[in-house]
Amino acid sequence: MVIGKNRNGQILINETAIRHNVQQAVDRLPRGTELFAVVKADGYGHGAVVAARLAKQAGATGFCVAILDEAIQLREAGFVTEPILVLGLTDVAQLALIAKYQITVTVADVAWLHDAQRVKQALGLTTPIKFFLALDSGMGRIGLQTPAEVDTFVRDYATLHPDFEWQGVYTHFATADSPDQEYFDFQVANFRELLAQFPHRPRYVSVANSATDLWHSIPEANLVRYGVAMYGLNPAGTALTPPFPLVPALSLTSELVYVKQVQSGRSIGYGATYQVDTPQWIGTVPMGYADGLRRDLQGFFVLINGQRCPIVGRVCMDQLMVKLPKHLPVGTKVTIIGSDQEQTISLQEMAEYCHTIHYELACGFSTRVPRLYY
Ligand code: PLP
Repeated sequence: MVIGKNRNGQILINETAIRHNVQQAVDRLPRGTELFAVVKADGYGHGAVVAARLAKQAGATGFCVAILDEAIQLREAGFVTEPILVLGLTDVAQLALIAKYQITVTVADVAWLHDAQRVKQALGLTTPIKFFLALDSGMGRIGLQTPAEVDTFVRDYATLHPDFEWQGVYTHFATADSPDQEYFDFQVANFRELLAQFPHRPRYVSVANSATDLWHSIPEANLVRYGVAMYGLNPAGTALTPPFPLVPALSLTSELVYVKQVQSGRSIGYGATYQVDTPQWIGTVPMGYADGLRRDLQGFFVLINGQRCPIVGRVCMDQLMVKLPKHLPVGTKVTIIGSDQEQTISLQEMAEYCHTIHYELACGFSTRVPRLYY
């Protein structure tokens, strides 16, 4: 895997923005409620270790990732002594690593505990394995769905208990980012029914991703899993307005590496999909879909000298071409995401153009693109 360092294209991450976004959320938390920063997928493309450091400075008291390797990366960074919760399911075969790095895993059925106990005893691991129980209140992904399943879990846990430390329980909402409340309320009711089966609650009860934290309030919960909003992105896209401004942390810039006039009758890029009908200035930007700039960005824009310039022809793997208003020198700055003078291209606008969500674009920028922090 190549980590980009020496090229004319980079992602710029505004550290103050991440700190500010987390701080804003922490300041609104009810007393006794904590915020874990979600830094999976390399901090949604922003850099997991840096994002975790900034979130910790702003008051995060733990971290969430998706897979064990991401958790290990955080521990190995050296400064994370707080809980690290893996939100995906981890195979019991990884128990030695889970124990060594003191990682908190998600458990979604009682069979996992039984299997894990066998492995743990066979390996002679002495420290209890920390876990959160996932409750599926209607996301349809992982977790116990019925009161009967919860009852069985609670009963079995009583016999397995010394080998484990049940730290928390969480659920995940499918429509917290929607103006329509109906399915959200259905999930809340299901969650409450499941929670009612617990003889006593574990330390953490967590329901909130960013959207739930921004637009809903569920008094039983005391832990927020704050993801996309810490990077300054509105989880609802444009469907709902956050209660306070989020500051996007990521911009992406490059430069013109080649500029030429193209005569009419020629075309630009693979498939010859853009025909030049009058002589025009075309610039080449050295970034493409292997960097995470989607092929369907043909017809979208970049910013040059504060002006929107269309991407012409198909985006190639490593380069894309733009139509220039006039001859511009090689080395002219190109803003692909971010602001230039009065103009801004946001990840949200780009995502809409690609018929996707900013989450997907942000975590799709490849390691070939250097991340610079300021
Ligand atoms: N919790 C779980 C279980 C998740 O899967 C995610 C993200 O996908 C989050 C929290 C964070 O969500 P968001 O980035 O919308 O805040």
